Amino acid sequence: MTVLLPGATLGVMGGGQLGRMFVHAAQRMGYFTAVLDPDASSPAGRVSHHHVQADYLDEAGLAKLASQADAITTEFENVPAQALARLAAQRFVAPAAAAVAIAQDRALEKEHFTRCGVPCAPNAVVNDEQDLARIGDDLLPGILKTARLGYDGKGQVRVRTREELRAAWDGLKRAPCVLEKMLPLAFECSVVVARGRDGAIVHLPVQHNLHRDGILAVTEVYAGNVAPDQAQRAIEATKAIAAGLQYVGVLCVEFFGLEDGSLVVNEMAPRPHNSGHWSIEGADVSQFELQVRTLAGLPLTQPRQHSPSIMLNLLGDLWFARGAEAVTPDWAAVLALPGTHLHLYGKTEARKGRKMGHLTLTGPSVEAVRAAARQACALLGLPGF
Ligand code: ATP
Ligand code: MG
Repeated sequence: MTVLLPGATLGVMGGGQLGRMFVHAAQRMGYFTAVLDPDASSPAGRVSHHHVQADYLDEAGLAKLASQADAITTEFENVPAQALARLAAQRFVAPAAAAVAIAQDRALEKEHFTRCGVPCAPNAVVNDEQDLARIGDDLLPGILKTARLGYDGKGQVRVRTREELRAAWDGLKRAPCVLEKMLPLAFECSVVVARGRDGAIVHLPVQHNLHRDGILAVTEVYAGNVAPDQAQRAIEATKAIAAGLQYVGVLCVEFFGLEDGSLVVNEMAPRPHNSGHWSIEGADVSQFELQVRTLAGLPLTQPRQHSPSIMLNLLGDLWFARGAEAVTPDWAAVLALPGTHLHLYGKTEARKGRKMGHLTLTGPSVEAVRAAARQACALLGLPGF
C-alpha cells in the first residue's frame, strides 16, 4: 500500500477525547478527517471534517466511513472487531481487527503476554461454576475483573474470601471473568510504542502513573521516575508485545512495579493512552502524531522528550468542588502558572468520574515542573501526589 500524504482523509472509529486529539494531530498535518460515532455531539465528531453519526455496527454508517476515509484507525478498544474487519475489506485499517480482539479480552490478552515471555499477575479464568470451584486460595485476596468491556476500574470487584468471590461473580451477572491475585504494588507505569507497516518501532519514555479509585489521576514523565533497569525492561516488554501481534499503530502497555523490584504486565490498549497525553507538549512527536504516521504509512522517528512533564487528569468532580451545582473551575488561575497546557474535551456535561480534560505541565527541570503541578493541584482542590 502506498503512503497517504496530507490531503488524504484519515478515519477513526469512536468520537471520544482520544479521537479528538487524533483529529487535531491529523488536521495540523493537512489531512482531512472522518469520525464515526453514534453521539451527535461527541468530542471528536464536533471537530472533524466529516462525522458519520451511526452505531459501530451499522452497515450504512460503516460503508459511508469507508467511502470518505482512505485509511481508518480506532480510538477505543471496545469498537466491535467485526466492524474493523468489515472496514478492512475496503480500506487500510490499523490496528487490525485481530489485534484489537485480543486487547478486548483480558483472558486472550494474558495468553498473548505469556506467549511473549512477559509475566502477568497470577490469575485464573472464571467462565463457569467449575472454574469457580477450581480457584486456589493462593489467588486470594484478588480482583475479579470482567474479561470484556471494563475501563476506569469499572467491572472490577476486590474479593478477600471464596464467599466474596462467589458474590462478586453473581454481581457481575456471571459474565466471563478473570480473577487476578492482588499484588503489593510499589508503583504503576506504562509504555507507548508505535509500530509501522514495515515493522519499525519507536517508543515514548516510560510513564509513571498514579491511579485513584481505579482511574488514572497523575502521570509523571522525566528521568528517574522509574528505576532505569525497570524502565528498560518495560520498554523491551512492550516492543515484544507489539511485535508478537504484528501490530501496526500505537499501542500502550500498563505495568505494575512490585515491591521486590519485579515488573508484571497489567493490560494493553490498542490506541493512544491517557498516560501518553503529556507527549503533545513534552515530546517532539506526540502519541497522536505517531498514530497519524502509522496509519498514513509515514516514517516513524524516535520521539525525543524535551521537557520534564506531568499530566493531571481533570475529572468531572472538579466542577462540584463547591456543591451540587456544576461550577467551572478557575482555569485562569491555573494558566497563570508557568508551563501549563490546558486540554478540555468539549464535553457538555460534567459528571463525577467523567474525564473532562487534562492539564499537562512542562518545565525546565523536574523540581520546577513538580512545584508547578503541586500548585495546580492546590488551586484546583486536587489531592497532592
Ligand atoms: P483502564 O482501562 O482505565 O486502565 P481498567 O478498568 O481496565 O482500567 P485495570 O487497569 O485492570 O482496570 O485496573 C485498574 C487499577 O486497579 C490498576 O491501575 C491498579 O491500580 C489496580 N489493580 C488492578 N489489578 C490489580 C492487581 N492484580 N493487584 C493490585 N492492584 C491492581
Ligand atoms: Mg488499566
